[in-house]
Amino acid sequence: MSGELEKLMDGNKRFVSGKISPKNLPARRAELVSGQKPFAIILTCSDSRVSPEYIFDVSLGDIFVVRTAGNIADSIALGSMEYAAEHLGSTLLLVLGHEKCGAVNATCAGGRAPGNIAAIVSEIAPAAKAKGNNPEQTVPENVKCVIEKIRKKSAILSHLETEGKLKIAGAIYSLSSGEAKPL
Ligand SMILES: [Zn+2]
Repeated sequence: MSGELEKLMDGNKRFVSGKISPKNLPARRAELVSGQKPFAIILTCSDSRVSPEYIFDVSLGDIFVVRTAGNIADSIALGSMEYAAEHLGSTLLLVLGHEKCGAVNATCAGGRAPGNIAAIVSEIAPAAKAKGNNPEQTVPENVKCVIEKIRKKSAILSHLETEGKLKIAGAIYSLSSGEAKPL
């Protein structure tokens, strides 16, 4: 496990046990005015129960977060992550899926999704198909597909990974236990 992933997992252990580390947010906010150097990028779901700063017990300036329903990587999400890795020097990219994901459930349930929700469903559809529309199996499969898409569609991120300057990893968050388990 890379040092950065270990740092996130240590924070997650504190979150699970309720022993959150004390934070001096006004002081940290002042420190960060001159610039940011987030150690990790987290691509996760917009679900209100999956807040990465809480889950990993980190502070302001620690993680660069991209959130979309179903933790999908579209071109704007890819560009955001490229910016963090290339310009801010983040060395870990964690794709975090979660249990009981509404976007995954909707995809597995089938039927026609209204409006722009259809775009989300069509992104998750290959993972759902691979897992016979089983939602709990589709969640990790979707994370794997998103990681593959990142490698395929982002020359910047895959190049950094090949050079050993960026680690790309996946994890699944449990709503009930609060645990984030690496895939
Ligand atoms: Zn979700």
